[in-house]
Amino acid sequence: RLIVNHLTRSFGGRIVVDDVSLEVSAGQVTCLLGPSGCGKSTTLRMIAGVDQPQSGQILIDGVEVAGAARHVPPEHRSVGLMFQDFALFPHLSVSENVAFGLKGDRAARQRRVDELLERVTLSGFGAKHPHQLSGGEQQRVALARALAPRPKVMLMDEPFSGLDNRLRDGIRDTTLDILKDEGTAVVLVTHEPDEAMRMADEIALMRGGRIVQSGAPYNVYNAPVDKAAAAFFSDIN
Ligand code: ATP
Ligand code: MG
Repeated sequence: RLIVNHLTRSFGGRIVVDDVSLEVSAGQVTCLLGPSGCGKSTTLRMIAGVDQPQSGQILIDGVEVAGAARHVPPEHRSVGLMFQDFALFPHLSVSENVAFGLKGDRAARQRRVDELLERVTLSGFGAKHPHQLSGGEQQRVALARALAPRPKVMLMDEPFSGLDNRLRDGIRDTTLDILKDEGTAVVLVTHEPDEAMRMADEIALMRGGRIVQSGAPYNVYNAPVDKAAAAFFSDIN
């Protein structure tokens, strides 16, 4: 379970994340949804641990990873990261990419790699290199890699936006199935309302650094908090 309490971050005196609080249970997906520049990625970066809040607190399964006098580095937070550019290591094979964050003996690592490659339907691709794969295949390798160490929290920043429209729906569904199976708490950043409607258990609608509304997708869509929220949702159907 991820708990974010009252996070605040400013750059050069301008507040870009303003008193943001969230709770995400294991196996649940919360979408941070909002227009460009509203502070989504900055929020995600603080949860990941690559940036530090000025105030507020972050807990993962009851352990404080960020707080007034605490900063746990990303590699010790049990977080998995997925961003728009999949950032696979080009010089490593698919198997080596997936195994990258794994510890333990060789046989156990190989079992986990095989299990995940099967799960993303890329069994038999282990010896290939990233440049030999399509965008959709690379995305699935990135998912397998991020999930390999069994992170408690998965942080995804517009992970599907580089993909072809026709591929995107299928990959969203596969990704969701796998994340639910693994029981990972997920924060998914997107500026696309239809993606949030499709993937979220809960939507946190952001504007100007603040969460202006949160709730089940259906409720946020049907009862927007104000005209701007309604307008933001109006371009889907
Ligand atoms: P997008 O949908 O375009 O990715 P976003 O919601 O992810 O937008 P952020 O990247 O969180 O937005 O940025 C929020 C604001 O903070 C923006 O105005 C951005 O210019 C500013 N900002 C982010 N990082 C920095 C930084 N390191 N230094 C200065 N300003 C920053
Ligand atoms: Mg962003």
